[in-house]
Amino acid sequence: ETKPLVAGNWKMNGLRSSLDTLKTIASGAAALVGKTDMLICPPATLLREATSLCSRTALRIGAQDCHSLPSGAHTGEISAAMVADCGATFVIVGHSERRDFQSETDAIVRSKAAAAHAARLVAIVCIGETGAERQSGETLNVLKRQLAHSVPDGATATNTVIAYEPVWAIGTGLTPTTDDIREAHAFMRADLVSRFPGNGTNMRILYGGSVKASNAAELMAIVNVDGALVGGASLKADDFLAIAGIY
Ligand code: 13P
Repeated sequence: ETKPLVAGNWKMNGLRSSLDTLKTIASGAAALVGKTDMLICPPATLLREATSLCSRTALRIGAQDCHSLPSGAHTGEISAAMVADCGATFVIVGHSERRDFQSETDAIVRSKAAAAHAARLVAIVCIGETGAERQSGETLNVLKRQLAHSVPDGATATNTVIAYEPVWAIGTGLTPTTDDIREAHAFMRADLVSRFPGNGTNMRILYGGSVKASNAAELMAIVNVDGALVGGASLKADDFLAIAGIY
């Protein structure tokens, strides 16, 4: 049985004053030990303080991006080794906002995921179709292409998590239907099982896009949905804990 992962992506939000929110989430996470893994990915500026604060708690800390190279002349960038050195254990790669605003290709995302693995981080590889691609019936083809080219050959059930985030569902309050999510996740599962025998069955596939307290239970109950990647609703401790099922 795959242990679900409920992950929060704070995006470009959070100052040191937000560390109180992290503390509250970390206290709540104790209730789910052994049942659900919980992760927050704060901005890089808060990584070190976040890992110190959460070191004796069940809440894991991750970064939102890393560079594909281990070091060098890349002003402003952060390597996977630097993320790991902060005590973080996860890193998101290929979020649709980076694919869009930073023009990250599947090849770049794949090399970032491989860099994460080399630094012993768990890579959360994000994929998902745009609204136009869904409208033209291309969703499953897009997912197939992104899985093939964004997930490195060394991916295992322990070093990799897939996050399916339909671009049109991010921050919009819209979500695909239950049937559409079930179909997409079954498709991704079959693809992973055939490419990664022995690992594909247990590689976690998260759903992301407008997950909130009121729809989380229904979304996470769908077969092959192994948790959620939460944006806006991860910024408030109460909302995030409710999504994880804590009361
Ligand atoms: P929202 O939950 O705000 O829709 O964002 C989803 C997301 O992009 C998480 O990475």
